[in-house]
Amino acid sequence: MTKTISVLGSTGSIGVQTLEVAAMHRIRVCALTANRSTGLLEQQARQFRPAMVALLDEAAAGQLRAALADTDIRVYGGAEGIRAAAQFPETDTVVNAIVGVAGLLPTLAAIEAGKNLALANKETLVAGGSIVRKAMQQHGVKLYPVDSEHSAIFQCLQGCPENSLKKIILTASGGSFFGKTRQELEHVTVEQALCHPNWSMGKKITIDSATMMNKGLEVIEASWLFDVPEDRIDVLIHRESIIHSLIQLNDNAVLAQLGTADMRIPIQYALTYPQRLPSPAGELDLAALGSISFARPDNETFACLPICREALRRGGLYPTVANAANEAAVQLFLERKISFLQIADLVGEAVSAFSGSSGEMTLEAILEADKETRNKILISR
Ligand code: NAD
Ligand code: MG
Repeated sequence: MTKTISVLGSTGSIGVQTLEVAAMHRIRVCALTANRSTGLLEQQARQFRPAMVALLDEAAAGQLRAALADTDIRVYGGAEGIRAAAQFPETDTVVNAIVGVAGLLPTLAAIEAGKNLALANKETLVAGGSIVRKAMQQHGVKLYPVDSEHSAIFQCLQGCPENSLKKIILTASGGSFFGKTRQELEHVTVEQALCHPNWSMGKKITIDSATMMNKGLEVIEASWLFDVPEDRIDVLIHRESIIHSLIQLNDNAVLAQLGTADMRIPIQYALTYPQRLPSPAGELDLAALGSISFARPDNETFACLPICREALRRGGLYPTVANAANEAAVQLFLERKISFLQIADLVGEAVSAFSGSSGEMTLEAILEADKETRNKILISR
């Protein structure tokens, strides 16, 4: 049977690499979506010949419709178009590579239509973990993690008996500013923050790596994916990004997954699980590397990680609020309206000021908390 996929966010860093994997393994691409840029999406549509493409921006969708008029590819605009891609009848797995909480509704749409998920969009689980998990159980769908750390944990868990997991150890590169003091971080620029040592990724996640918010989001993501509480998820700085994460079992045996820093390995595993097919990613040469290093995270200088841990412990809408505050703060930093250190300040203030319940979550409550937190931060600048 041929695998069929919809790629949401196909023009981004993960989206483009997903299409490389799809091309290599003859995975059929049924639908592609993006936010507003038409050039790359048109090129992808011509190469992969999906049945449909969708752009969130209606005007851009109109342009693309005209550009693809010589083909039989249907072009949709708006959130409805993205929803249609997530629910496309012939698709069996939806790759969600959208950035930010904008990925939550498409994730839910895919689940409701009975699609399995290859999930890169970690904000989906951070903002809406409980409702996503409930919907998955209701509709009997599977979720394969694309995030490299979570894929590593998922890979390590293969063959481990149930209830044998004692601890998760998430590795972190430390981002652009590892080892810097608060004082040194006061005047860092957007360009410096966007300079990641090992990975080439979208702008938002690169800033999240520099603030360590990315690891905070990943602790929350891991908690939902593997049903492990906050105090059993450790974070280990590992500058070289060779070990993608580790698990510790009840007998204190530790398993790790290693590889070059190439997202096509976790993307491919999410799409072809449980098979191990040839990959375009290079081989790992440990001898050439000589040694690799480990350190503890600096939670004083990089406050986003402990703030996310606190939000996860409080539960309910707290992670939603932390994520929304971060999305707004990163936007302001990229627009050069706030300084680098103010990102963590704004996330911390939003979590401290929030006093919502920790009880049962609904989609409405999540969207409301997200919007309110975001607006408060954006309107004040
Ligand atoms: P990116 O910015 O490169 O791409 C984002 C994609 O989403 C683009 O196709 C864009 O058009 C689309 N998009 C943006 N806003 C949208 C909206 N409001 N509605 C619909 N579509 C929208 O981002 P990326 O680096 O590929 O990251 C995507 C997701 O994967 C993020 O959640 C990120 O945290 C996660 N992730 C990325 C990497 C990586 O290596 N890039 C690694 C692990 C996890
Ligand atoms: Mg990651």
